[in-house]
Amino acid sequence: MRVLVVEDESRVASFIAKGLDGAGFVTEVVGTGAEAVRRTLEGAADLVLLDVGLPDIDGFTVLAEIRTVDQATPVIMLTARGDVSSRVRGLELGADDYLPKPFDFEELLARVRARLRQPRQPESFLLRSGDLELDLRSRRARRAELQVDLTSREFALLEFFLRHEGQVLSRVQILNGVWGYDFDPGSNVVDVYVGYLRSKLDTGSTPDVAATSLIETVRGGGYRLREHSASGL
Ligand code: CA
Repeated sequence: MRVLVVEDESRVASFIAKGLDGAGFVTEVVGTGAEAVRRTLEGAADLVLLDVGLPDIDGFTVLAEIRTVDQATPVIMLTARGDVSSRVRGLELGADDYLPKPFDFEELLARVRARLRQPRQPESFLLRSGDLELDLRSRRARRAELQVDLTSREFALLEFFLRHEGQVLSRVQILNGVWGYDFDPGSNVVDVYVGYLRSKLDTGSTPDVAATSLIETVRGGGYRLREHSASGL
C-alpha cells in the first residue's frame, strides 16, 4: 500500500516515512500542498497523511481541492492537539480521520491501517454509546432519538468521553484532550462543563445525579462515561 506523506518539516516527514517503510508501506514524501494535490490526483497514493501547516497552500485547501475530484482516497489530517475547530473543518471537508500532533508512531500506524481496511463510509462520522449518538460531521448530538443542543465545547467534551467510553478520565486528561492544556490551570472548568453536559443529557430527573448520571463521578479520580452495557438504558 502506498502512503503519501504531506509534511514540510523534514524531520517529522522522515520520522513518519521511516516508520511506515518499516511497517511494509511504500511511502512518498512531498513538502508542499501543490505537490500533494498533483500526486494524489495522479493516483499515486492509497492513503494521504496531510499536515495542516504547509508553506504554500494549507492542508484544508489541499483537502478541498482533492475532494472536488477524488472522494475515495482516504485522507488523515495531522492537526495541533486540542485544536477542535481544525478538526471539525477537516471532517467537514471530507477528511476521514485526524491525528493530533504530537502523536505516537504506533497510533499513527493503527489509524493508517484502520483506514486502509475500511472502505469510506459515512457511519465513521458517528460515535455511539447506548442511546447516545454523536454525528461528527453535522456536530449534532442525540440521546434516545432526541436532539440535544450542545455548544462546541460541550460537544468536544462529550466526544472525548465517547472516545474513551468506560475509562476513568482525570481532570488533567480532560483538560489536555478537550482544552489543549497540558497542566491544570487550577480552575474548575472541567467540573462546570461536566455539569452542563449532565443537565442536558440526563433527562430523567433523579435526586442523586452522581449515582445515576451518564457521566459518573469517580471519587479521587475524575469522570467516566458509563459503558453502554452498564447504562441500564
Ligand atoms: Ca508543517
